[in-house]
Amino acid sequence: MSTRGSLRIVGLGPGGAQWMTPEAAELIAGATDLVGYSSYLERIPPAEGQARHATGNGQELARARHALHLAESGRRAVLVSGGDPGVFAMAAAVFEAIAGEPRWRSIDVAVSPGITAMQAAAARAGAPLGHDFCAISLSDNLKPWGVIERRLAAASAADFVIALYNPASEARPGRICDAFALLRSMKDAATPVVFARALGRADEDVSVTVLGAADPSRADMSTLIIIGSSETRIIPRENGPPFVYTPRGAKAVL
Ligand code: SAH
Repeated sequence: MSTRGSLRIVGLGPGGAQWMTPEAAELIAGATDLVGYSSYLERIPPAEGQARHATGNGQELARARHALHLAESGRRAVLVSGGDPGVFAMAAAVFEAIAGEPRWRSIDVAVSPGITAMQAAAARAGAPLGHDFCAISLSDNLKPWGVIERRLAAASAADFVIALYNPASEARPGRICDAFALLRSMKDAATPVVFARALGRADEDVSVTVLGAADPSRADMSTLIIIGSSETRIIPRENGPPFVYTPRGAKAVL
């Protein structure tokens, strides 16, 4: 066995073993140490001889440094994130830590991808991400609210489908309503909207509505929202929930 330590930054998918990649499962099984936010570690059954380092929410950089220290000391560390580790998650924090500490550049580090919440939400609804789209986090912990507003306005003006991560802030519950007010001022009231909550978990709930009728206050931190472009369509069905799709080509001239 190699004495050289390593760090693998692994995505668990949105929830449920069926959405975890075989590679993620293999890396977790081979780890000496698991590091991550406690609610993600809870999703992994305990294995004998495997150490767990649960951390609170926030503290991303400290968690990344802790995982790098473990790898440096010869451990096979696995740092877990929900969804994909590169989408609003831990991978960027690890590279930020490495950028600030030259001696960490020689550590064996690799990222293992996961299904991100936006993909799971899109799959449940149909194919809303079938044409150009963007993803915006509404969390203003790491950026000023003014930046978020500018990006929402620019994405609306460019007629992207928009996936909204982190829609509800406990500290500022009104922000999601401000975001919807801005979107409503720029987009048609008939624009399809998907609220996808707790994807892949027992309490999963996906609902389809339109921008003019959407109640943004229903979104919590387990919700991913997809806002359509001007091309996105809803196909109603009598025997099940509607399909939502965005055609492959854009007809409208901006
Ligand atoms: N790395 C994660 C995203 C972390 S940001 C990923 O790739 O999915 C956290 C946000 O992701 C949540 O506020 C929510 O908007 C979304 N999210 C994560 N898991 C989800 C799930 N199972 N169902 C719905 N949304 C989810």
